[in-house]
Amino acid sequence: MRNVVFLSSPELWKRGFGPNHPLKPDRLQRTYELLDELGALKAPNVQVIEPRTIEENELALFHTQEYISAVRSMSKGERLVRAYRFGFGPGDNPIFAGMFESSQLKVSSSLKGAKMLVNNECDVAFSYSGGLHHAGPDFASGFCVFNDAAVAIHWLIRQGLRVAYVDIDVHHGDGVQNAFYDSDKVLTISLHQSGYTLFPGTGFVDEVGTGDGEGYSVNIPLPPNTDDDTYLWAFRQVVPQMVRRFKPDILVTQLGVDTHYLDPLASLALTTHGQKALFEELYRLSPCWLALGGGGYNVDVVPRAWALAFSVMSNQTFPEELPLGYRNRYGGKWLEDHETPNISHQVRDQTRRRLEEVVNSVKARHALE
Ligand SMILES: [Zn+2]
Repeated sequence: MRNVVFLSSPELWKRGFGPNHPLKPDRLQRTYELLDELGALKAPNVQVIEPRTIEENELALFHTQEYISAVRSMSKGERLVRAYRFGFGPGDNPIFAGMFESSQLKVSSSLKGAKMLVNNECDVAFSYSGGLHHAGPDFASGFCVFNDAAVAIHWLIRQGLRVAYVDIDVHHGDGVQNAFYDSDKVLTISLHQSGYTLFPGTGFVDEVGTGDGEGYSVNIPLPPNTDDDTYLWAFRQVVPQMVRRFKPDILVTQLGVDTHYLDPLASLALTTHGQKALFEELYRLSPCWLALGGGGYNVDVVPRAWALAFSVMSNQTFPEELPLGYRNRYGGKWLEDHETPNISHQVRDQTRRRLEEVVNSVKARHALE
């Protein structure tokens, strides 16, 4: 039985990019409510911790001082002519009041999880508001202002730890890969819909790292329509072997659930069954696990998928039907999907063949069996 810390606070869903932006704070609120109503947060091995705001110098573990100051100014409503240079503006990364505090709290949450793990206060920490894997040292990107994963991993390697980072978001984990591209202390593995058809347009097999980091960046770009079985096959071919060979002290994962077939922003075809099987694979990879949230833009799917992640982390079994109060407020009936995506045999076979080629090339580049 592992001791699990769930990092949550109502502050996390108070502010956001606005009502028309896909990254809706409801995703977090509903996930919290679902777990609460399932009784999951009262289990004897579970602790709910409210993150406290970290010091600004901890943001500087990854971000530049200039960028940190700029985000603070814009968050207060100051108009910066350089906003575009920092990645802000209408579209993916609009500026909003309180953006600094809101984004900083998500980093605080992931860093608190990292610290509790290192202090042996828990075995698993779930910072579900984190996983903001696209942000760079001095720019916002893809809905991400501060990169909590990069900050937490920087802190962990300063403690002398070897970190394996596995990113199962449908988008390439470019910000984290780039942050440690020349390091052999961090292994980054990202499975994502191929950059040929999806933002951010990177994450190809030949991105393997540079200098000391050569061989420590692994990318598995997936074709559209990749389903549960095909995805899991690819994962099992590469990830356990890479992680075992690296021998990490800690596993950091980005658990974006925008791989789901109902996700409006991408074109993979996973169900919650495949996602749950993936969480189980990750659980087996390390006894010390910092789990971060990530993408997922169908608000009916995200809370269910992350509740399943939590069931795996904390060794709990939940009822098949959603709690009554939750159903009355948000609709839906089942915790797990009872429907499947409609993919023809022909498309499935074609997708599988394309992915086999990708996996063979990943194995060749990283000398895997
Ligand atoms: Zn994503």
